[in-house]
Amino acid sequence: MDSYQINKIQIRQLGPAQTPSPLEVKKYYFVDDGEQVLMASTVRELKKQNDGGPFSFEMAGPRRNLYFQPAATVCGIVSCGGLCPGMNDVIRSLVMTLCHGYGVPRIIGFRYGFWGLSAEGTASSIALSPETVKHIHEDGGTCLGSSRGPQDVSEMVRTLEKSEVKILFVIGGDGTMKGAAAIKQEIERRQLNIGIVCIPKTIDNDLEYVTRSFGFTTAVEEARKAIAAAHVEARGAMNGIGLVKLMGRHSGFIAAHAALSSGDVNFCLVPEKQFILEGEDGLLRKLELRLLKKHHAVIVVAEGAGQDLLFDGDESDKDRSGNVRLRDIGSFLQEKILSSCAEKKLDVTLKYIDPSYIIRSLPANALDSAFCMVLGQHASHAGMAGKTGMMVGHWNGHFTHVPLEMVVGRRRLLDDETWQRVLEVTG
Ligand code: ATP
Ligand code: MG
Repeated sequence: MDSYQINKIQIRQLGPAQTPSPLEVKKYYFVDDGEQVLMASTVRELKKQNDGGPFSFEMAGPRRNLYFQPAATVCGIVSCGGLCPGMNDVIRSLVMTLCHGYGVPRIIGFRYGFWGLSAEGTASSIALSPETVKHIHEDGGTCLGSSRGPQDVSEMVRTLEKSEVKILFVIGGDGTMKGAAAIKQEIERRQLNIGIVCIPKTIDNDLEYVTRSFGFTTAVEEARKAIAAAHVEARGAMNGIGLVKLMGRHSGFIAAHAALSSGDVNFCLVPEKQFILEGEDGLLRKLELRLLKKHHAVIVVAEGAGQDLLFDGDESDKDRSGNVRLRDIGSFLQEKILSSCAEKKLDVTLKYIDPSYIIRSLPANALDSAFCMVLGQHASHAGMAGKTGMMVGHWNGHFTHVPLEMVVGRRRLLDDETWQRVLEVTG
């Protein structure tokens, strides 16, 4: 097996790790950089990697030797993008691990996303300590606040320099990873020794090389409650229809998993699978047939589904971060269903439920909280060891180090196997 050639995906290291970790005295287990997690999980995937593969990721975990001297290291934390259950848990875990585990003397919390690193925003930054973060995981949201919208990258790096931050921990989604990669580039250009370590935040579960992102199980659990309510409403009326819109801009993981766990969904619409409205194979006809037979129906639609039916070619409507704003598929479907049923003289009662903001702002459930705790620990270990330009991933059952370049501009989509299972339980 020793002769087997593995292509190890390299993580940038700020410099040699020569300071013994203080975790040793607490008899921690240590992970060597040579410990690798295979990218492929099946022989079929392994065979597909014939171009330079098989590939492997560095395994996350505490390193025996550190690049930074903990007692002289100032750390920064920033959270960006939309809210997601568990952000506070990650912040708490970072602070607890850095302070209690490593003895880091100072942690700065930058407020409201990358704005907090701008020349204007830096004045609002706060000191984080185990005492101040003790209870934050009981609340939803992020105690640091968040934001969208671009900031001047060199200004942000100047803030890090001025505040003497040696490691910046960045919690965010795909846009945030791009921002973090840009900050890392500027740091390199200016030959500074500042590490950038990211923790993936995506309620949609759509970041590459993250099998399960934090907040996802909380979202599915709450989405199932919304579906249960829609089901009760649908059954409570003759030809009752429950329509639930769930999160999922590009990937339908929440809709698919909520449908699978609920068992009450008759139609599940996701961004990855195009559907048609009209005609014998269209949604409206299928819904009519279902109502004639069963007199009630539940539809789950991910926010990014059916955008081709709504899109008017205008890409100028963007949010502050430059993401194209999605058209409201929920209201659109509601209108189409009601007018189509009226045309067919089918008397229906439709209840439309959109629980998105209620779900995003919840505190994490037990599973997600535990997951966040580990993400925060691994990010702290990686940062102290001098790793930079990376994200903590979760792949093949292990926590990993993933270079930002491998994440930026990519997206994880619903796999065919899960979709097949959804089709089996809906209809
Ligand atoms: P969500 O899951 O909520 O979409 P996100 O991280 O993708 O999270 P965005 O609002 O898209 O959220 O991006 C977060 C931050 O990253 C914003 O402040 C945005 O301006 C910044 N950002 C995105 N791309 C870049 C880039 N190429 N350079 C610098 N900053 C960027
Ligand atoms: Mg995003």
